[in-house]
Amino acid sequence: MKVVLDHVGIAVEDLEASLSFFRDALGLEIEAAEEVPSQRVRAQFIPAGPSSLELLQATAPDSPITRFLEKRGPGLHHITLRVDDLGAVLAHLRQRNVRLIDEEPRLGAEGATVAFIHPSSAHGVLVELKQPAVPQPQPEMPKTIRLGDIDIVTVSDGFFYLDGGAMFGVIPKTFWEKKAPPDERNRIRMAMRCVLLRGARTMLIDAGSGDKMTSKQADIYRLERDFNLQHSLPAAGVSPEAIDVVLATHLHFDHAGGFTERAPDGAVRPRFPRAQYIVRRGEFEDAMNPNERTRGSYFLENYKPLADHHVLQLVDDDVTIMPGVRVRRTGGHTMHHQMVLIESAGKTAVFVADLLPTAAHIPEVWVMGYDLFPLDTLNFKRAFLREAIEREYLILFEHDPDIAAGYIRERDGKRYVEKVA
Ligand SMILES: [Zn+2]
Ligand SMILES: [Zn+2]
Repeated sequence: MKVVLDHVGIAVEDLEASLSFFRDALGLEIEAAEEVPSQRVRAQFIPAGPSSLELLQATAPDSPITRFLEKRGPGLHHITLRVDDLGAVLAHLRQRNVRLIDEEPRLGAEGATVAFIHPSSAHGVLVELKQPAVPQPQPEMPKTIRLGDIDIVTVSDGFFYLDGGAMFGVIPKTFWEKKAPPDERNRIRMAMRCVLLRGARTMLIDAGSGDKMTSKQADIYRLERDFNLQHSLPAAGVSPEAIDVVLATHLHFDHAGGFTERAPDGAVRPRFPRAQYIVRRGEFEDAMNPNERTRGSYFLENYKPLADHHVLQLVDDDVTIMPGVRVRRTGGHTMHHQMVLIESAGKTAVFVADLLPTAAHIPEVWVMGYDLFPLDTLNFKRAFLREAIEREYLILFEHDPDIAAGYIRERDGKRYVEKVA
């Protein structure tokens, strides 16, 4: 059983007066006080490292805090321990004849469930157990942006998590954690957001991780794929058979995993039965011959079956794939990583893939540790950012957890992304 001290509750006669000690003398920073009408208390949280102090003042004569103060005077009121599975913990305690105030978990603040243990079983201490609410990931529905003759539809293959340090290279955590808060394993949340183009042909750019990953990999990368391409493509009104072209920015698993699928007989086959798959030749060769450094991201089953089934088309240069859609090599992330430019009616949108994985990567030196040639990324980014700002390119973000599309703006020497709703 994992138990973490969440906070210590302290009953006070006068909240304002108590701050002269906790805030002024101890120098702790306070949060805004909160009324809890159901308990007839005013609560003041004061963060102290990973735990907090909670000062409790009664707001009515029948408040539990009033009764507590009459009986015991001001002081320690309760401690709150955080657990992962409150139901299991209560069952365990019952088995050991621990006296509980709440036999079953009940709803506490912020969607958490809580239960109290009687002080007589906890050596005079009132103990609150708390299981925090797990925020439910919301499915990201397809969004359509019309660019001249081409419909750009963002389609989600779900989310995954990567090590925050690796995502920001030489940038210290103190800076990046504000923009991309890490989970308890230091990972940050990333989208696997592909782009569907409907113009002269129907084209899918990248295809997320797909579902061939092992449960161990799914745990390492914390895959959230309850809503994935299997759902987002139909939601956009497109069946797998409707895709004419699948275009790869590069062949890392989070971009190319969805190119193939495992058939009922266990064989791996192309996922889009009518599609021609277009990959840059240098990228395909590098992916077919991974080295010690690149092996963790290149899985042959994602792209070798495309060659075996003769649906692979290799391109060598910055070519036009269909009217209004062309690729441009960026290098940096991998030697042959490419982005996709979509041009129609005098407007340009750019699917930047791992050149700018998230909006947090706008500053030039915020380059991923994963990049094989970080100085190439830096140089390409420097020139491209200037171009994108001047020509007002609409940037399509593949990995940003919140921003699917936006314009890079510059004001007073500061760059930021203006999100497109
Ligand atoms: Zn990549
Ligand atoms: Zn990626």
